[in-house]
Amino acid sequence: MPADAIRPGELVRLAPSIRRLTAFNAGTMTGPGTNTWILGEDEVAVLDPGPASPEHIENIRNKAPGEVRWILVTHTHPDHSPGAAILAELTGASLIGPPPPPGERQDQSFSPAVQPKDGQEFNLGGFSLTAVHTPGHASNHVCWWHPPQEVLFTGDHIMQGSTVVIAPPDGDMSAYMVSLGRLLDLPVRAMAPGHGHWIDRPGEEVRGLIAHRERRESKVVLAMDALGPATLEAILPRVYDDVPGRLHPVAALSLEAHLLKLERDGLAVSESGSWRLAAGVSP
Ligand SMILES: [Zn+2]
Repeated sequence: MPADAIRPGELVRLAPSIRRLTAFNAGTMTGPGTNTWILGEDEVAVLDPGPASPEHIENIRNKAPGEVRWILVTHTHPDHSPGAAILAELTGASLIGPPPPPGERQDQSFSPAVQPKDGQEFNLGGFSLTAVHTPGHASNHVCWWHPPQEVLFTGDHIMQGSTVVIAPPDGDMSAYMVSLGRLLDLPVRAMAPGHGHWIDRPGEEVRGLIAHRERRESKVVLAMDALGPATLEAILPRVYDDVPGRLHPVAALSLEAHLLKLERDGLAVSESGSWRLAAGVSP
């Protein structure tokens, strides 16, 4: 294992009053595991307590430098928020974050005391966080910005080591692109993602992700131009020819999100199970 590898269960201090504790849920979709961020010193805020893992929750309580007073989440996917209700029960900490939208892949146990408005500031025992609404990966996604150190906690809006899945109907590629663009206006020196390593060149990362999605969208247009009316399954291997086949079921979700964005932009049409370019559109 390389020296800088992420080890689940190991507390790592990455900046003043900012510590990372990765949950024991490594996998194809979660990379090395969900990053729980432990913020502050005497009084502590826990951001994204992760899945309902008793071992991870106990670890958070044992390794936090002070009393856990607040629990925040970026969104309510099952690898990010189910630990919140359990940790709140054990500590009495208050829950801050977006309530879950309807849906199976949403943690319906997350019941926040405070639902952050876009731009709302929170002073958590001297550690300040501002909510930045970033729908796209999930309709209720919130990034959390820490202005004094210009650190952005990105949840699954941006993860390190992989692009994120945009799964309709809750995931929305149009919204995701707008939310990525928003970050370019924010003074950010580093990003602390929900999966993977600390990101030191945030502007480069965001511009790279926007370019990546734009290239993918161009490939969707090219595929439809070449194939004529075609099913999503027929379009998929042309658009994701750089992605291993075992990941194609997941890529199919993002492809659907791209197609729905193109439809909304007036560039693609969906008819009886097939997709084609709108009349007059060429690559
Ligand atoms: Zn997620």
